Amino acid sequence: ALSIGIVGLPNVGKSTLFTALTKKGGLAANYPFATIDPNVGIVDVPDDRLQALADIVHPGRIVPATVEFVDIAGLVKGANEGEGLGNQFLANIRETDAICEVVRYFKDPNVMREVGRTGEFVDPAADADTIMTELILADIQTLEKQIPKLEKEARRDKELAPKLEVAKRLVAWLNEGNRAAAMEMTDEERAAAKGLFLLTMKPMLYVANVDEDMLGEELEPIDGVTPIPICAKVEAELSELEPEDAAEYLESLGLERPGLDVLAQAAYKLLGLQSFFTAGEMEVKAWTVRQGATAPQAAGVIHTDFERGFIKAEVIGYDDYVELGGEQGAKAAGKLRIEGKDYIMADGDVVHFRFNV
Ligand code: GDP
Repeated sequence: ALSIGIVGLPNVGKSTLFTALTKKGGLAANYPFATIDPNVGIVDVPDDRLQALADIVHPGRIVPATVEFVDIAGLVKGANEGEGLGNQFLANIRETDAICEVVRYFKDPNVMREVGRTGEFVDPAADADTIMTELILADIQTLEKQIPKLEKEARRDKELAPKLEVAKRLVAWLNEGNRAAAMEMTDEERAAAKGLFLLTMKPMLYVANVDEDMLGEELEPIDGVTPIPICAKVEAELSELEPEDAAEYLESLGLERPGLDVLAQAAYKLLGLQSFFTAGEMEVKAWTVRQGATAPQAAGVIHTDFERGFIKAEVIGYDDYVELGGEQGAKAAGKLRIEGKDYIMADGDVVHFRFNV
């Protein structure tokens, strides 16, 4: 499964947010036998389309898509020098597919920021900068270790030349204080850069942990990305409530849905994922594929045998399915398509696979 690492300076609300995420997660409902790392939270990705499908087929259960969040120990200044948890932090974050940085916007005199800085004042831009600097420094170290090896190998293996070239360009770029992902690269260079395992190549999103009364406010972008405003304290409280009470509390805050829902959806998008659906009496279920996945790859998500034995996919577009009242209606209107192995899945496709076993 694809995972997102939660990072941020100490006392920004990471643990509070992570606890809320795991409490609320679909884990208990859908993964009764899973024993997982306490640092990993599997979280439902809310999708209103599931209920619309369920209203048509009345299934026994609804199973949403999920994303995985990983709680990464606090990052402090100097992590790249291997102080304390620094090295461990960088190793953990290297294994995730994307980064979610929590930035402190809430003011609280009782909760210190870093050592020696009181909590009455905040400086989100500077905090985000501190983390980015650590990530960039770590990447420079990674490259400085790799380049001499690459130079040696490239003398024997000419195919390594583009990788070496892009590694050298990246060092210069990072040394100017930029993140790797922001460098202009051809598709070939980008592919080569992937093999360098840089932290600042990963897709990144920002969560602004705001005070309750800031929830409706428009926030300034960080690194060109608008942060997702969340109040971790409120989310923690919401995650403890029964659904009706939670709905009432949300309304009193003037919110349409919990911030965690918005976060899960944003994370799913950031990872380049989309859903297709299976809809039957037993269950309506969202399955996850990368954008651009083919029909056999989608079948393989359900079962590896389905990919190997793939014959055809019977596909109904989501809108057609709902407008025409389900499979029979869509079929009668000529909206059930038979697609072959080159078909690129569209977001929301409702699918039956035909396969050989
Ligand atoms: P971490 O070090 O980033 O994991 O931060 P924690 O989640 O442990 O939070 C540090 C302190 O800030 C705790 O005392 C939390 O109760 C408090 N805190 C977290 N989120 C909020 C918030 O949204 N508002 C306020 N006022 N305090 C918060």
